[in-house]
Amino acid sequence: MGKLIVASNNYNKIREIKQILCEYPVDILSMKEAGVDLDIEEDGATFLENAYKKAKTVYDILEHKFMVLADDSGLMVKGLNGEPGVHSARFAGEHGNDEKNNKKLLNLLKDKDRESRRAKFICTMVLAAKYDKILQVQGEVEGIICEEERGNNKFGYDPLFYVPEYNMTFGEMSAELKNSISHRAKALKRLKEEIGKYI
Ligand code: IMP
Repeated sequence: MGKLIVASNNYNKIREIKQILCEYPVDILSMKEAGVDLDIEEDGATFLENAYKKAKTVYDILEHKFMVLADDSGLMVKGLNGEPGVHSARFAGEHGNDEKNNKKLLNLLKDKDRESRRAKFICTMVLAAKYDKILQVQGEVEGIICEEERGNNKFGYDPLFYVPEYNMTFGEMSAELKNSISHRAKALKRLKEEIGKYI
């Protein structure tokens, strides 16, 4: 079975990628599991730049022996001119502090109307594969930032991301439901066919 290395240290992202691709005939490993213990600085101006940098860095370190998948994702809020965007992971200053990020987001949106609270999650994925082939795909999902956290799934902004069609936040959804409609699911759906050509 082919190996797919995920160029991330984000446990939740890797968990979701494994769940979404669970029936796919590929052995999915985090970069740590593949022996790459590294923090890659995400200093690009776009999701694509960051995803490309992460995929290419790990692909090169592993000497082009395995497919490497990078996911750069984030939340864009209408009333904040697209922020936090590429800064989603460190919106409140400290990388990966979801609690502080969510608090900051709620404060900035205090007293804002529903239109300003409209938001979308974006997921850009880059796959570096055999013969140095680079593939890129993107998935998006729309929602509304609600006024308080809801749900037990605490991954990032999930407890604040309300999806009207389901009357639930991502934080309240089962993993199965989130993984069937999310930005990550949509990006991976587009990638699946392409990956098939490289395993
Ligand atoms: P990065 O792609 O490593 O720059 O980090 C993405 C950041 O966006 C995460 O740390 C989360 O704050 C946020 N994010 C991305 N995808 C999701 C998601 O599916 N749920 C909740 N937050 C997410």
